Amino acid sequence: MLPVPHCPRCERFVFLDALRCPACDAELGYNIVLGRFFEVDPAGARVDGVAWFSCSNRSWGCNWLVREDAPSGRCFSCRLTRRRPDADDTIALEKLASTEEAKRRMLLQLRDLGLPVRPWDQYEGGLGFDLISSLSSGERVVIGHAGGIITIDLAESLDDRREALRIRLGEPYRTMLGHLRHEIGHYFQSVLLTTEAMWESCRALFGDERASYQDALERHYATGAPPGWQATYISEYATMHPWEDFAETFAHYLHITGTLQTAGMIGIEFEAGERNLRAADVVLLQDYNGVSIGRILDDWAELAQAFNRINRSMGLRDLYPFEIVDRVRLKLGFIHDLVERARIPLAEQVAIGLPPRPAADGGAPR
Ligand SMILES: [Zn+2]
Ligand SMILES: [Zn+2]
Repeated sequence: MLPVPHCPRCERFVFLDALRCPACDAELGYNIVLGRFFEVDPAGARVDGVAWFSCSNRSWGCNWLVREDAPSGRCFSCRLTRRRPDADDTIALEKLASTEEAKRRMLLQLRDLGLPVRPWDQYEGGLGFDLISSLSSGERVVIGHAGGIITIDLAESLDDRREALRIRLGEPYRTMLGHLRHEIGHYFQSVLLTTEAMWESCRALFGDERASYQDALERHYATGAPPGWQATYISEYATMHPWEDFAETFAHYLHITGTLQTAGMIGIEFEAGERNLRAADVVLLQDYNGVSIGRILDDWAELAQAFNRINRSMGLRDLYPFEIVDRVRLKLGFIHDLVERARIPLAEQVAIGLPPRPAADGGAPR
């Protein structure tokens, strides 16, 4: 469980992307191993005898810290970025900064769930990110995953463009964090399903992934989701192919557990009573690791309904515009079991990847 992000000087809450404390102006850096903020110190913030420095991409908004003995000046997150826009493409680099922020949030959640992240530059088929822009590079960029590498089109971080696509594709929800959580689902399907028996149980729920992807793609864009898809799938896109069903469901697992945990840390509780039509209190947990999927989804139903109501009272779209039917509960349960079984201790996660050495600040992100 991660502590609530707060300023080490004045103890006030700060958002995960903070570079400075808005209350006391302390310069802040985030230590992913301990999951908390430190004051940035040019001599390095010392943690257990090791100095941690700012990531060399700090001037591009990265607030993570880097161990002194790391192989480069980049933090764990920045190191996973294999390709990025050219140094002179400042417009694309701005989009990169907001995408990197969503990526750090996701990586932090994976660390909290105890999922193994093996970097592409150290492991064959390891995780890496190509964060490039179809607008400036002129190349065709297709969001997707292949062999551990996740490709993201930075043009999707432009609100008008992403919103136009969302409407054209009839999607109720489209965000950069959502893209990242979907693509990481593809990555973890190949990493976490290690035996034929696991693949068989996966197929029983999601369908046979050996079906032609190309045929599925053409069919989906020609005719759309089949009528009645809501009884089986979390989204229309999930109907396209078993790979996509798994990735969509995995993304929802991350949406649900991540958001519930935030709500639990805020201390949200729902009281029983006649006035609110609730028979028993619902107290959200600060840590959902090791909790049954039934409890997770029951708590989520309360929270999602509450925040959909709150959003509507502000004239906004629903926070969670999806319905979780029984069949989807089973699929989420399958993913929950996979995650629970794959959990590795933090010490081992640190051994897998975390280092990076300090380097001079400034210049384009690397
Ligand atoms: Zn402060
Ligand atoms: Zn960084």
